[in-house]
Amino acid sequence: MSSKLITERFRAADLVDIVKPIWIFDQQGHIQEGDPLQNMEPKWTYRSGLNALARGMARSLDIRQRTRIGHLQHNITGWSLFDGLGHPAGEFECVLIAVPASHALALIEASLVPEVERESICKHLRKASYRPLISVMLGYRPAPRVRPYYALVNTDKAHALSWLAWEHEKSPERVPEQAGLLIAQMAPHYSREWWQVPSNDLISDVIKRVATLLDEPLFSPCFTDLCHWRYALPAETTDAEQLNVIALPLGLAFCGDAFVGGRIHLALEHGIAVARQMN
Ligand SMILES: Cc1cc2nc3c(=O)[nH]c(=O)nc-3n(C[C@H](O)[C@H](O)[C@H](O)COP(=O)(O)OP(=O)(O)OC[C@H]3O[C@@H](n4cnc5c(N)ncnc54)[C@H](O)[C@@H]3O)c2cc1C
Repeated sequence: MSSKLITERFRAADLVDIVKPIWIFDQQGHIQEGDPLQNMEPKWTYRSGLNALARGMARSLDIRQRTRIGHLQHNITGWSLFDGLGHPAGEFECVLIAVPASHALALIEASLVPEVERESICKHLRKASYRPLISVMLGYRPAPRVRPYYALVNTDKAHALSWLAWEHEKSPERVPEQAGLLIAQMAPHYSREWWQVPSNDLISDVIKRVATLLDEPLFSPCFTDLCHWRYALPAETTDAEQLNVIALPLGLAFCGDAFVGGRIHLALEHGIAVARQMN
């Protein structure tokens, strides 16, 4: 279903099917060809960045950005929303909460929701938990050596790196001319262990690990950056159906990766399904 949204309804001019395959590696750093069947499936991205799909879907909708909702208040006609400072942010008949379950829990705990439903909703939301993830960006000029793949994935989940992508292979517009960008997604166990380590030490360690895995002297990137994702991927999901049976009579519902696992297309499809239930 979500691939039709990408290829048909919200098709963007800068949509790209990445040509090169994904290869795999194990704890020892042994690299080999990936599954040919999985590699035959399209690997969609956008020259202007992955949020092109969200931008397309948002067109002509009334969307208020940069508004963190701090709490909700249930009333006779539906819901009043308030921002983090307690200022009114709108009145709505129904509310579909599509934020990570840990944020949803804090939001409901801070909200004025009928007591019995509030307790049951919070009980369900507490069951979900997330793994942290650190992403490290390494830019090189000239670009790293050309490879027969555009990304590597660690299949035994025992290596410090879980995913390494050659961003400039997805589309050359993603980097300045003659440059290359590697993005390393670190494994959950590594991310947890290195969470508090100062950025420079962390980046130096990742540079060495990347160079060792690739057996290529990539020790001097011309650009580095990193991002700590506290709620990157759900470790344990919770049941949306049981939760929404309690919430829907209040004109409230929940969707997102906390219920279906950490995959964009699954979260998107879940949002559509729950929105239809609300209607
Ligand atoms: C580094 C990384 C790489 C990933 N790579 C892939 C991949 O290659 N393929 C894949 O399928 N999945 C990938 N995922 C997982 C995927 O991004 C998520 O599973 C998916 O985005 C979940 O969608 P969602 O709509 O449930 O929530 P989110 O995408 O987390 O969206 C929730 C939104 O709610 C906003 N928000 C939170 N609290 C509030 C509040 N109080 N008020 C207002 N707004 C709020 C947040 O700012 C956010 O924009 C990756 C995740 C990470 C971190």
